[in-house]
Amino acid sequence: MTASRKSGSDGAAVAPAPPRSLGRRLVLATLAFGIVFTLAAVAVRTWSAWQHNLRAMTGELALIDKVFQRTLAKAIWEMDRDELQTHLDSVSQVSPVGRVELSIRRAGRAPEILVRQQDGAPRASLAPSLQRQLTFQPYAGAVETVGELTLEGDERVLWARLRTEVVGIVATQVIQSVLLAGLIMWLFNRTVTVHVQRIARHLDEVTPANLKNTLQLDRQVAHRDELSLLEAGVNQLQGKLSEYLERQHRDELDLAAHRDRLAELVDEQTTELRSANAQLQELSRSDPLTGLANRRHFDDVKDNEFRRAQRLSQPLSVLLCDVDYFKRYNDTYGHAQGDDCLKLVAETLKQTFARAGELPARIGGEEFAVLLPGCDAAQATKAAERLRQALVDQGIPHADSQVAPHVTLSVGVAQFDPATMDRFETLLQHADKALYRAKNLGRNQVAV
Ligand code: GH3
Ligand code: MG
Ligand code: MG
Repeated sequence: MTASRKSGSDGAAVAPAPPRSLGRRLVLATLAFGIVFTLAAVAVRTWSAWQHNLRAMTGELALIDKVFQRTLAKAIWEMDRDELQTHLDSVSQVSPVGRVELSIRRAGRAPEILVRQQDGAPRASLAPSLQRQLTFQPYAGAVETVGELTLEGDERVLWARLRTEVVGIVATQVIQSVLLAGLIMWLFNRTVTVHVQRIARHLDEVTPANLKNTLQLDRQVAHRDELSLLEAGVNQLQGKLSEYLERQHRDELDLAAHRDRLAELVDEQTTELRSANAQLQELSRSDPLTGLANRRHFDDVKDNEFRRAQRLSQPLSVLLCDVDYFKRYNDTYGHAQGDDCLKLVAETLKQTFARAGELPARIGGEEFAVLLPGCDAAQATKAAERLRQALVDQGIPHADSQVAPHVTLSVGVAQFDPATMDRFETLLQHADKALYRAKNLGRNQVAV
């Protein structure tokens, strides 16, 4: 079996493109999905990290506030400017703080604002800020508000932290996707591709001669799966195909045998038919009692011979023979013996006229005629005399005959005369007249 090939419009066979691996397509699809998934995951995780960093920065600002609140309030209350400046510088240098603003309240005066800002820190910031009243307790039970502290986070810190995290997120997502695609490829190749290739090779090698070689996939599975179904299907198909081919072969052999037998039968029948035909033809031309030619055959031949004699101007003679006193013979010896006597007479006729062209025939009950082509009256008379004598020589007893103690014949002879005869019947009439004369002259003789 060969893979089907498409043929081009010019009729030439075009080689099929090499097959593309299913596994490769699967990996590409997995990778494409992985990229989309990675982008989405990176976006979500980045947003989540940003929120987390905001919360963390708020917490850190609260902690800084807690640490410096008391010392700042004390320095304001005691009007210790140096101390205040030192503390403000310290606060502004703590990492997430971008800007510090201290508003000092003085009774009867506008508040004094002290500001510290990190170098390069943007003013309008996405970073969180914290505002707190500064209170001082000079003695138990007295709480004085001395000012207000505003801490703003440094946005650059937020972006720096996020950058580090995003690099990590992207790296893990990409590694995850690549590993997943590789794993799928490896698994697919191990569990599907090699077996599909094996099936394709097997099908390519299958021929009518090796249909019995079943497909065996090299794998162990606890449960039947699609590949098991495919394997079973291929083997089942091969089994059915092999069975079908065997049956077809058997049928062809049977058919050939039947054909031979039929040919033999036809041959046999034809042979039988031919012989039956020949027999039938013979029967239709011969007299059943004596085996001599019958009247019909005699009529067929006589016309031909008559025309030939006319055409070639050749002599043609005819003898008419009649058994003498045959009625009496029957009366004396019985009809059956009469038949036997006729057979003996016929035998004598056959022996006497055995040359080619001579045709003795039984034309009535105990009447016979003989056609003698090429014979004139003299030759015919001699032949008739030979016949008469031959019968006499047989000496078949005839007690009731008035002419001899044995069976005798009277014969009339006539020769074809082209001048007076234009039909064979005329010749026959002449022979009949001669026979009549022979009878009248005393029987057992030949008359012309
Ligand atoms: P003739 O000498 O004048 O010829 O006398 P005949 O008795 O021979 O002539 P006839 O015509 O009177 O008789 C012919 C007889 O031949 C009558 C018939 O019974 C007999 N015959 C004709 N055909 C057959 C036959 O096939 N078998 C037998 N056994 N007899 C036949
Ligand atoms: Mg007669
Ligand atoms: Mg007779």
